[in-house]
Amino acid sequence: MNPAPLVILGTGMAGYGLARMWRMKDKERPLILITRDAGEAYAKPMLSKALSDGKRAEDLVNATAEQQARTLRAEIRTHTEVAQIRPDQHQLILADGRELEYGQLVLANGARPIRIPLAGDAASEVLQVNWLDDYRRWRQRLEGEKRVLVIGPGLIGLEFASDLRKAGFLPVVVGPDPTPLGQLLPEVVGHFVQERLEEAGIDLRLNTVVERLDHHGEGLRAHLGNGEVLDVDVALMAVGLQPETELAQAAGLAVDRGVRVNEYLQTSAEDVYALGDVAQYPAGWMPYVAPITAGARALAATLNGQPTPMRLGPTPIQVKTGVFPLWLMPPQPGTPGEWKLSGDAQRLEARFEGEQGLQGWVLGGQAIDLRNVWMKALASHQTGV
Ligand SMILES: Cc1cc2nc3c(=O)[nH]c(=O)nc-3n(C[C@H](O)[C@H](O)[C@H](O)COP(=O)(O)OP(=O)(O)OC[C@H]3O[C@@H](n4cnc5c(N)ncnc54)[C@H](O)[C@@H]3O)c2cc1C
Repeated sequence: MNPAPLVILGTGMAGYGLARMWRMKDKERPLILITRDAGEAYAKPMLSKALSDGKRAEDLVNATAEQQARTLRAEIRTHTEVAQIRPDQHQLILADGRELEYGQLVLANGARPIRIPLAGDAASEVLQVNWLDDYRRWRQRLEGEKRVLVIGPGLIGLEFASDLRKAGFLPVVVGPDPTPLGQLLPEVVGHFVQERLEEAGIDLRLNTVVERLDHHGEGLRAHLGNGEVLDVDVALMAVGLQPETELAQAAGLAVDRGVRVNEYLQTSAEDVYALGDVAQYPAGWMPYVAPITAGARALAATLNGQPTPMRLGPTPIQVKTGVFPLWLMPPQPGTPGEWKLSGDAQRLEARFEGEQGLQGWVLGGQAIDLRNVWMKALASHQTGV
């Protein structure tokens, strides 16, 4: 009799990344991946830079589900929704009512974009881009248009705004923060970055929110909280992500912001693991690629009988605002110190100086090439070398 399969829920970077690492170690055991989408393998970070690269959704596909099934020697169930997890029975219930037994289950079912409710008769027209199919619709909707409202001046919103600008559109970004990237950059650096983005033709309307969106002639009209009115053609919202925790929660797993896992990526249920945007690691919820890569390597070994904790060193954050790209390494929250900034229209170097010397940094424009040097400098200060 075949051993019970390893079942992975999700074929994003976490699901496929883990499947690839695990298959290298176990060539025999049955592997099943389940996804509600078409199961195409693609690098999600490309979605916010593909427009100006002239890429269609098809151009971003690295492999179809059929190709992945062959490479991974896996069964891939596409357009299949999981409706319930029964950890006690080691069983999944699919939306069509069928049951599926697992030996071990990995939740890699990601996160969905948060949607802030807006008033107005065009509120439902606001697009969100988090998966490949969204990008397909995004590109189609932009055809022949010019003015684009981007709701959300955070990392993803600004990457889209920059991509739009580079592709010849006129983006206007709206959000309540006093400066762009308010959760990542201190205000003094945020002001500097704001100037560079505005010089590049990105219109930023901060300290306010979009309250309503209506149809207006051929286009859309947005009413802002500060009384301003903006006429645009297309609207995009990028205000954060909500991990897909409902299945885990209904199954009685420990859930906080994401599905809680220990350093072995094990959830509170036996033989159930989680990885990627759905997971909340011991160090917190980290919806980035670096934890997926580190986690997939460790979990592949653990699932193969060699319990291996996930180890993630300090990783800098890249902001793919092509008009003025950034790399940053924020200081630990609460670290006492001061930001020192130097730069001009082409480059930015900002360092956070604490009692122990360099504790964080931001590099922008032409200075991003220095990131490896600054990583080393930071490591030497933090270890006291
Ligand atoms: C525009 C954009 C740019 C980004 N840029 C960067 C970057 O530059 N650097 C970086 O480190 N990170 C970046 N990220 C974040 C990074 O891409 C994500 O952390 C990563 O792709 C998440 O992968 P995942 O597999 O966890 O989730 P997802 O890609 O969301 O995959 C989830 C999978 O689960 C399936 N699924 C969910 N629920 C069910 C269900 N009930 N039944 C069946 N299937 C289900 C879905 O169909 C899908 O296959 C970016 C994200 C975005 C949106």
